[in-house]
Amino acid sequence: AAQLRQLAYYDSLTGLPNQKLFRQRLGDALEEATQDGDSVGVLYLDLDRFMRINDTLGHTVGDDVLAAVAARLAQAANGFGVGRCEIGRLSGDEFLVYLRCRDPEARMQRLASELSETLSAPFACGGQDLSITASMGVSLFPQHGKDAEALIKAADIAVSRAKSAGRRCMRMYSRKMSAHAMKRLSLENELRQGLASEQFQLYYQPKYRARDLRIVGAEALIRWFHPTRGSISPGNFIPVAEEAGLIVELGNYVLRAASRQLKAWKDDGLPVVPISVNVSPEEFFRGDPATALADAAEANGISGRLLEVEITESALIRDIERVTDALGDIKKLGSRVSVDDFGTGYSSLAYLKRFPLDRLKIDRSFVNELTATSDDGAICSAIIAMARALGLRVVAEGVETDEQLRYLREQGCDEIQGFLLSRPVPADSFMELVLAQNTATDPSAATMQDVEHVA
Ligand code: C2E
Ligand code: CA
Ligand code: CA
Repeated sequence: AAQLRQLAYYDSLTGLPNQKLFRQRLGDALEEATQDGDSVGVLYLDLDRFMRINDTLGHTVGDDVLAAVAARLAQAANGFGVGRCEIGRLSGDEFLVYLRCRDPEARMQRLASELSETLSAPFACGGQDLSITASMGVSLFPQHGKDAEALIKAADIAVSRAKSAGRRCMRMYSRKMSAHAMKRLSLENELRQGLASEQFQLYYQPKYRARDLRIVGAEALIRWFHPTRGSISPGNFIPVAEEAGLIVELGNYVLRAASRQLKAWKDDGLPVVPISVNVSPEEFFRGDPATALADAAEANGISGRLLEVEITESALIRDIERVTDALGDIKKLGSRVSVDDFGTGYSSLAYLKRFPLDRLKIDRSFVNELTATSDDGAICSAIIAMARALGLRVVAEGVETDEQLRYLREQGCDEIQGFLLSRPVPADSFMELVLAQNTATDPSAATMQDVEHVA
């Protein structure tokens, strides 16, 4: 019977109370607190990026780390008084702690800092020293909820705010968070529905060769036409998709839609230029962008060379090995790779040389303020010179004025993108732009020839 109880109420990996037992104990603590006029704080602890330990070192090491983390957390919690402070494992890398006390705000702050303190020494596992951090959310009884359920939910909302604030910190629940979380949740659900019911569309922004301003490519930019909310900009829904675990699906949609478009143009005998798609950092860590790209190209019978990838500088340096491998696979398909938003991510030359890259895109913020005499002008020139030295081509995005265009051409920038030359436009309008330049200059469809050497 003791063994059965152990199985039913304790987590076998960490030996901690499981979710069921923890909820019972929290329920009891709330009753006692009500009788004694005490308060109770609930702390929800979520390890930061723990998935990556599992992914890179394997589940056995992952389990060892979890057991070691649990042991340290339990010890720290016990320091707050056995019986007054209890810890349980909620699931995976998530833990719950409650503390019965008089002055909950200060005490919970203290608990949170002790828990993060106890994790701060590295964990020796699988022959490596791993450093582990946690995000935490706190809710208080009675103000944030009357029962265990409500308190855990409030702490959960608070922890997701801690995560979006950059992780490795604690947030105390407030009612405002609930409103925000509700909005998030409905956006998440609508994203799911939107993906299922084709509310998304790709727009294409031409990339012009600086030398003669001919279109040599396009960047696919996703647009969401929501049935009631109107159009929602990617800056607002991409982060939600990343957090909700929908980014891989969204990324696959973009790859398929771009490939279908290329096929349609080819089938109609129209000239095609390579289309680049933005791959969000999360796609590299959660999905398999090289395989997704290969599948999309193959399904539509187009060459991988017609699809290109843009990855932000910050994503490159987040997990060097993984990204290098994935980019290597992408290059094998013939696809070219651009570093997006270059200049914002502090990557060093030494880093850049390690990746199989083709282009740097100077971040819009530098181009925006660019005049020949500004600091940003100097930054753009320096980026262009550096790319040269590395054998990379340079694209300037966000070019809005003639002055910017002139300066960038003078400095030897290879390609230009921006509202000055064209906004992102629907597929048909993009093709009109391509065709217009062909009839205007060389009727023998120079674009086709330009493409021939890449495609
Ligand atoms: P990004 O990759 O830096 O894309 C360029 C953004 O700059 C686009 O905004 C584009 O419309 C805008 N832009 C282009 N030329 C100019 C200009 O001359 N002036 C100004 N002010 N803006 C210009 P958009 O379409 O709203 O996209 C915003 C961001 O959302 C993109 O930044 C990209 O990071 C992300 N995104 C867009 N589509 C996708 C997608 O299909 N997948 C993923 N993962 N991310 C996407
Ligand atoms: Ca981009
Ligand atoms: Ca960019």
